[in-house]
Amino acid sequence: MSIKSDQLQKIHERWAVDCSCELRKTATRAVFGDGNPNAEIVFIGEAPGKNEDLGGKPFIGAAGKFLAEMLKSIKMKREDIYITNIVKYRPPNNRDPEPEEKKACNEWLYEELNFIKPKLIVFLGRHSMNDFFPELKISEAHGKLIHAKFEKIDTEYFLPLYHPAAALYNGGMRETLMLDFKKIPKFLKKI
Ligand code: URA
Repeated sequence: MSIKSDQLQKIHERWAVDCSCELRKTATRAVFGDGNPNAEIVFIGEAPGKNEDLGGKPFIGAAGKFLAEMLKSIKMKREDIYITNIVKYRPPNNRDPEPEEKKACNEWLYEELNFIKPKLIVFLGRHSMNDFFPELKISEAHGKLIHAKFEKIDTEYFLPLYHPAAALYNGGMRETLMLDFKKIPKFLKKI
């Protein structure tokens, strides 16, 4: 393990002790962000599902497989990026996370983002987008690069996308997500 991944692991281990999220009572474990600590892109999903809760890594189920296919379409691999979730614990029966559950995990997310300092943050779905941009609608904002400054994080560029799990079984949304995804290399060059 590199020094940087070792340091990031320590951040996660500290938060796994300190995080006050109520979901820790029902989840099997905290699911830490995963991937390259030097990544230019960080993907942020919603919360772990059943596979992630059991396996301990984000996006290892069907949505993760679809994500890996889309990464391949832009000549990237999972090892090139970093992927995490707004909420680090699986909500029971995969229900939507409650506002307090998201809030309880927010400082953990900001710390990992500020450690990695990616050029671009890609939101997977409305939950992660609305955590930063509460007023936006995913049906309008998807595929459009946003430039914005926040006090809490250093990254200034954001790209909302449909969530791969939502798009997986919806032909139109799937097509749109795949087209939006292909814009990533162009946006990275532009930033
Ligand atoms: N969906 C998410 O939002 N996150 C995961 O880790 C898996 C599925």
